[in-house]
Amino acid sequence: MAPNPLIEAFTNLVSRIRGLNYIDETTLKEVLREIQRVLLRADVSADVVSSITKTIEERFRQEKPPQGITSKEFLLYLLYQELVKALGGEETPNVNINKKPYRLMLIGVEGSGKTTTAAKLARFYIKRNLRVGLIETDTYRPGAYYQLKQLAEKINALFYGEEDSRDPIAILRHGLEYMQRNKVDLIIIDTAGRHRNEEELLREAKAIYEEAKPDEVMLVIDATIGRQAAAQTEAFMKYVPINSVFLTKMDSTAKAGGALTSVIRSGARIKFIGIGEDIDEIEVFNANKFVSRLLG
Ligand code: GDP
Repeated sequence: MAPNPLIEAFTNLVSRIRGLNYIDETTLKEVLREIQRVLLRADVSADVVSSITKTIEERFRQEKPPQGITSKEFLLYLLYQELVKALGGEETPNVNINKKPYRLMLIGVEGSGKTTTAAKLARFYIKRNLRVGLIETDTYRPGAYYQLKQLAEKINALFYGEEDSRDPIAILRHGLEYMQRNKVDLIIIDTAGRHRNEEELLREAKAIYEEAKPDEVMLVIDATIGRQAAAQTEAFMKYVPINSVFLTKMDSTAKAGGALTSVIRSGARIKFIGIGEDIDEIEVFNANKFVSRLLG
């Protein structure tokens, strides 16, 4: 991941802790305040920030550092553990495709990076030796059809779309038949991200969901909206069950902390993150790895 403001803030925090001679009452309070500032700047909500720092403080006072570990290393270890916990814990999401053909439906608002993400996912699974097909059901945004078609050609995925159609359900039906005829293992269904209004967008997503009967619905969210990501997730959840979340643009935002923690608190599972515009800039989300990178 390219250096971003979030990583810089954490790098400074870590060097500050490492630079301390010892941690007394005054420096502990200062460091905790600094952690709060960094997390708030990352757009993490105040109550989550306060719960993280309170736990670190309690544990630092109550637990004994393991033999040979200095108090500042112990503080960093507690920070690491509490951040991993706030980001959903140690477990890595399961990204295996356990059924063929597997139908994966993508939803999300325009500009979230949904079309790029459809291609990234296709490529991710093609690399795992699956036969992948992309269906474009967005009849609202004129460029969507060509954008996805071109990306599909670039990565050798099958593609189905109907350039002049105004009927997403018909496109979906034809697309599913086409993919089944071609013995595709994974069918990725892209949907519209904009409509006359939000209500219509959500209704269309619901209609496509009912017709596609997907094995998984993945919500694509732009991480630069920070903790607003929770409100967006909840709005979609009212119409369509969300099984997983793909957070895009994690490379270019200082608000990644807010996006991550707010989505996790809304009960959704983050599966992948997008870490650049390139088709290969996709990662399975792993809280351990993410926090290790933050803390260096
Ligand atoms: P859609 O309207 O949701 O289909 O969005 P697009 O796929 O057209 O993407 C919108 C913009 O976001 C494009 O400029 C993409 O290159 C960019 N984008 C998508 N994913 C990422 C990402 O992970 N990182 C960065 N930096 N840009 C991204």
